[in-house]
Amino acid sequence: MYPRFFAFHRASMGPADAAKPSLSQSRQAVVYHDCGFVSLVHQEAAAGGFGNGFVMAHQQNDRSGFRRSANGLRRSLITALSILPFRSWADDTSSVKVDAAALEENEKQILVVVGPSTHPPGTHEVAAGGRLVAHCMMHPLNAPPIRATVVDHWPDAQTQSKADSVVFIGDMFPPTKFANTGSILDELAGMMDRGCGIVCLHYATGLEAKDVGPDGQHPLLQWMGGYFATRCDHHRSVARIFDAATIEKASADHPVGAGWEPFTLHDEPYINNYFGPEANRMLPGAIPLATSMLPPEAPERQVVAWGIDRTDGGRGFGIVMPHYYRNWANDPLRTLICNGIAWSTGANVPKDGFKTETPDLRQFDPDSIEPQARKKAKTR
Ligand SMILES: [Zn+2]
Repeated sequence: MYPRFFAFHRASMGPADAAKPSLSQSRQAVVYHDCGFVSLVHQEAAAGGFGNGFVMAHQQNDRSGFRRSANGLRRSLITALSILPFRSWADDTSSVKVDAAALEENEKQILVVVGPSTHPPGTHEVAAGGRLVAHCMMHPLNAPPIRATVVDHWPDAQTQSKADSVVFIGDMFPPTKFANTGSILDELAGMMDRGCGIVCLHYATGLEAKDVGPDGQHPLLQWMGGYFATRCDHHRSVARIFDAATIEKASADHPVGAGWEPFTLHDEPYINNYFGPEANRMLPGAIPLATSMLPPEAPERQVVAWGIDRTDGGRGFGIVMPHYYRNWANDPLRTLICNGIAWSTGANVPKDGFKTETPDLRQFDPDSIEPQARKKAKTR
């Protein structure tokens, strides 16, 4: 059905197998099935449509994953059929086929873009974090899976076109670190215009003075509703590790607040983030989704996760955690992040949140799970 994807499927692997996905192999999209199966898809092959390979991989290699996918599709199909006039599917089976095809088209897909990082092992861990995010979105416990492709470069137009949301992880907003920043921003603008979502995690929310106008203007502000203004002149956000930051819901009825309760963690939630030129008031359509009373010596309610419903129909979600890779094992934090990513695609977030199993952090091949002192600069 999709024969050329098979050419790029790697052999089955264990967690420590040398066939682990290597984001250092440039110009390849790493399609991370995480069911003992990894696809390294060359750009040319990816142009055939990312995501198609997942269905095949699950069918052949991950029976439980396939069952989940099949159940998800079946649930979706039942939902869709239930709103059709009875006659249309009782008398005319062709309409069922058409709707099934349309449903597959309606499955959500994310594009995870991993930018460069020079942070010490155990912190940021952007490549492992990108793989972990892809795994979690593809393996929810209580919702249809969301397909994911992970790339370490800005992909071609066809790959862009498949994404319902683009998720960035890296040191600073990755387009500012890639070559051809201007053309990437132009292409991102095209994605946003068609209603694509955008998500930035932790340092990927970051812009500095050289990236923004003198008044802080940058398209990311409109696309995502805010950013971490680091080393900026117009506004000074603050990066600081807090021993115990308690994260609380800011909008009780918002889907991103589903399935998690206030939690406390040791991390680096940026504070005094930038939301707009009018005394830092949020733009129309933007709302806080999680807050924390920080810093401890002079606590104020700081917005550490936010969302925006844009006029183009797209959604943006920003969250300024996690700094420590090990915090991906924090269930409420991970639910908050997965909720935000799912919401950004336009998918329905379950009432009890987009739930995922606590991941085995080793599985995603970080340099370290626990934070280590800075050694030589990591090059990717
Ligand atoms: Zn950090």
